[in-house]
Amino acid sequence: MNLDNPTPSAARDLSRSVRFGPDVVVHVLHTGTVRVSPRQSATERGRARTAPVWTRPFPILAFAVQTPDGVTLIDTGPSAQMHDAHADDGEFEGRLTLKWDISYEVRPGDSLASRLSAAGIVPSALRRVILTHLHGDHCGALHDVPGVPVLVARGEYEAAVAGAFGASARHWPADFRPQLVDYSYAALGSFGRTHSLDRGRLTLIPTDGHSAGHLSVVLRTAEGIVLFGGDVAFSQRYLIDQQIVGLCRSVPRARRSMADVLTLARALPTIFLPAHDAEGPRRLSERETVPG
Ligand SMILES: [Zn+2]
Repeated sequence: MNLDNPTPSAARDLSRSVRFGPDVVVHVLHTGTVRVSPRQSATERGRARTAPVWTRPFPILAFAVQTPDGVTLIDTGPSAQMHDAHADDGEFEGRLTLKWDISYEVRPGDSLASRLSAAGIVPSALRRVILTHLHGDHCGALHDVPGVPVLVARGEYEAAVAGAFGASARHWPADFRPQLVDYSYAALGSFGRTHSLDRGRLTLIPTDGHSAGHLSVVLRTAEGIVLFGGDVAFSQRYLIDQQIVGLCRSVPRARRSMADVLTLARALPTIFLPAHDAEGPRRLSERETVPG
């Protein structure tokens, strides 16, 4: 598999709800698709490597984790309003194209509000939103969940405020005041520092490199862990191959994060769910873990 031929097609709705035991449900929310231009589709040794054509659409997946402690939303997906906000950035085949050549498509029914409703989740009942990072396709729909506490890694927020590439502060709600996550010296496998929530049912782990303060979320279940990887790797294949593609702030740090995630995923039964892997929802349904 490579970026030019992701499979299966992201065109169909990948949303679903998968139960773990009596009281945990993982909801996949398919909030749109993204394509990447030749100029941004690959990175190798810190340099952009060009692909010959625009990629096919990748899904943009957000997740809602329902436990006895409440419902935690992991990323929001993009917003349909991003089309309007970026109207001056040009178009490619009728779709929005940002200045840095990323094209989003949010179809009717893809919106976060629609996906939450379909999953039976009332936005006002959300316990919190955890943002893996502040790229627009991960936080663009914050407007759909007003008043819900938002958690972001401190390093991610501070870099975004300073104007980090790809972090579109103009999409943030006017009252955006996230709780900034710091890590403590509580180890989880290959990660020496973590941030625990809900008595350890959820654990935030630092997986920076793709962006300045990118984080991933670990859910403990009776069967193992579900690791919500954001953009730490665009697919499980890339994770296993330790291949970095696409936008990357620091190649050495991204490489370290991928290695740490893979080490953890091989130490514990792990279902790996990054944000843009069309195979992830199937693996969740089939409880397919990262091969050892
Ligand atoms: Zn990203």
